[in-house]
Amino acid sequence: MASAVITGAAGFLGSNLVDLLLAKHWEVTGIDNLVTGRTVNLAKARQSRRFRFCRADLATLKRIPRADQYLHLASPASPPAYQRDPIGTLMVNAAGTQRVLESARRADARVLIASTSEVYGDPEVHPQREGYWGHVNPVGIRSCYDEGKRFAEALAVAYRRRYGLDVRIARIFNTYGPRMDPQDGRVVSNFIVQGIRGEPFTVYGTGRQTRSFCYVSDMIRGLYLLQTAPPSVPTPMNLGNPHEISIRNAARIVARTLQIPERVRFEPLPEDDPKQRSPNIRAARRYLGWTPRVPFERGVIETASYFRGLGIGRRVPR
Ligand code: UDP
Repeated sequence: MASAVITGAAGFLGSNLVDLLLAKHWEVTGIDNLVTGRTVNLAKARQSRRFRFCRADLATLKRIPRADQYLHLASPASPPAYQRDPIGTLMVNAAGTQRVLESARRADARVLIASTSEVYGDPEVHPQREGYWGHVNPVGIRSCYDEGKRFAEALAVAYRRRYGLDVRIARIFNTYGPRMDPQDGRVVSNFIVQGIRGEPFTVYGTGRQTRSFCYVSDMIRGLYLLQTAPPSVPTPMNLGNPHEISIRNAARIVARTLQIPERVRFEPLPEDDPKQRSPNIRAARRYLGWTPRVPFERGVIETASYFRGLGIGRRVPR
């Protein structure tokens, strides 16, 4: 039986990955300091005798348990969350990543590093392929996350070069779905919550900027396939849905799908907001046989039903 340590286990992606690994009969230890993660996300996992949870900060945790697989997802990931704690974000991706890599080296284990499409910054190459080096402002408001993840990638490949460690880097593009924090400020969760509450959609800037949204079950399957692929698998690897839409159009689709009137409130575009983003997933297709399956409309319905289950929308609409 495979044993795994997952950092960021109580988060949106972490907790969904925990559930998948438990379903595959792995033994899983989850670590999370609950800065952005939520224990409710682990309610299902906690029913399993193969799951242990450790509430701890990677920086101060005395000993990371031994395992044969490490999956490092710990980090704030939404722009408002990482901008609230820029130093913590940099450090979990720097010192935290080093602790995970050291533990894996001692255990001769395999490591997955959750990186991000943000390593491409505001890209000048479109769609983004893994060979593109990116266009990142090193001192902008997003740099704590972008540069933190770029450092994590650099450290991971340094461990591979120096020690032959088996590391896999997933560059995760925008992902949404059940267990997202409805208040984390990301666009899909904002629009769905606003739609359910009968509030206007907050579109930043003109709304002409684009993103490509991947449903969580697709992403989790991709991460699992990457982690279990043979050591020859290329890294880093993009994981995301290549179907690109403008933010303005995303608002339209959410309104139409939830069958609510579409009202939009334009707000200023945040600094350094990438103008376009879409993954080239040729490598994931070829080496993992992976391609996203869930259309945006279906994902929106599932996510809305999750948010309604949390009690969102019981407030009287304004
Ligand atoms: N955005 C928006 N309204 C919102 C939240 C975000 O128009 O309520 C925009 C944001 O400016 C960006 C895109 O939607 O262009 C995606 O933002 P998100 O925070 O979800 O993730 P990002 O891809 O920027 O990290």
